[in-house]
Amino acid sequence: MDLLQKIYEAGVVGAGGAGFPTHIKLNCKVEYFIINAAECEPLLNTDKYIMMNKGREIISTVVEIGKLVGAKKLIIAIKGKNIKEINHLKELNEILGSKISLFIMGDYYPAGDEQMMVYEITGKSIPEAGIPLDVGAVVSNVGTIVSIYDAMKDKPVVDRYLTVIGEVKTPTMIKVPIGISIKECIEAAGGSTLKEYAIIIGGPMMGTIIDDHEAEKYHIKKMDGSLIIVPKDHYVVERKRKPIEKIMNETKTACIQCRYCTDLCHRYLLGHQLRPHKIMRNIGMSEHDEEIMKEALLCCECGICEIYACPMGLSPRLVNVYIKNELNKKGIRPKKGSSDIVSRDMIEYRRIPSYRLISRLDMLKYYGQPLEACKDLTTEKVTIYLKQHIGKPANSVVDVGDLVLKGQLIGKVERNDMGANIHASMEGTVLEVSDKVTIKSNGVIS
Ligand code: SF4
Ligand code: SF4
Repeated sequence: MDLLQKIYEAGVVGAGGAGFPTHIKLNCKVEYFIINAAECEPLLNTDKYIMMNKGREIISTVVEIGKLVGAKKLIIAIKGKNIKEINHLKELNEILGSKISLFIMGDYYPAGDEQMMVYEITGKSIPEAGIPLDVGAVVSNVGTIVSIYDAMKDKPVVDRYLTVIGEVKTPTMIKVPIGISIKECIEAAGGSTLKEYAIIIGGPMMGTIIDDHEAEKYHIKKMDGSLIIVPKDHYVVERKRKPIEKIMNETKTACIQCRYCTDLCHRYLLGHQLRPHKIMRNIGMSEHDEEIMKEALLCCECGICEIYACPMGLSPRLVNVYIKNELNKKGIRPKKGSSDIVSRDMIEYRRIPSYRLISRLDMLKYYGQPLEACKDLTTEKVTIYLKQHIGKPANSVVDVGDLVLKGQLIGKVERNDMGANIHASMEGTVLEVSDKVTIKSNGVIS
């Protein structure tokens, strides 16, 4: 069976972001195959753990994928501060005789953004609304590489490594079955030190937030890599939860047009016509210039303008999200830009140092929290979403009452669909089939 077929059957999706189906992504021929090991979001440790513990698997799989996509250059992009991981990968590279090079990146945000990473490595900016393939590159996260290694051994994606940090008694790394509740993950870290708290799923810049009372009904998906527990009134929680009406009113009255949001926007610096200060000015005008508003479609929601740049505490990111939704309702989508794009001169000097960003996030307290050794969690019940990522949901192929084995297909997409197969992450009996499949371990069904 060819490698793409194995990846499709195993339901591999990008582990580091929106969860793009990997069998679609890797169906290409490129010059560069880049492995994203930058672990871009502040405070996370999952990719570092994977590199230290799955290094051999990563190296051997990268070589195989390199052959699949015809890449002449195989590159692992990693931050220079991760000395232990760099030395480990270099050593394995030598032992295994592979020709993978390491590209050392600075400790800045967003080093792990695909567009920044491709620019740093190739010197080329990806066109507006484009993808790395437009400049002859394809990028996969280290976690995805490990899933592909498993797929080559006919093992589907059924578990995830997670960092659980912040306001917990014992910050830890855990390996969990997909579909376990977030509550159980927090309990594995000794529970929270707070009576009431919020949970950031993903990183503090681009992650989503839920409340403590929702932890039981949210379940880990294939792309989740971390949980950060913070007080309910934490700065990041308040910024991300500000109502859009308030944001719009503040935009009209408080934007001083300093343009820091634009000057620090990495997409603008890469040469894209994305100028958040112009969008913010437009919001205050009685008649909106739709061409300026369309620039919001190029925003990747990295959060630099909102969390780091704006001296007035405004939220260009959330304004862009709002405009994008409005334009999408009208059927307006981003248009692919010219391939003659060049980056702006100041790009080298406007990177956001991670440490300063963590300080701005009010999260220095959680920086460098020592982690307990990785625990392998099991559970009595999993709830697995049939739509976990961008693209189509999988169609359930099981019914209530069915007995399923760990690794058995429970949700299917066709090979050419933009979606990924879903598998049972534990053995048990199917209790519910809707937009999710709930499985309860045998012997404990009530
Ligand atoms: S940084 Fe803030 S105040 Fe300055 S132009 Fe942007 S939104 Fe306005
Ligand atoms: S969130 Fe702000 S800084 Fe990031 S891409 Fe969008 S406009 Fe630029």
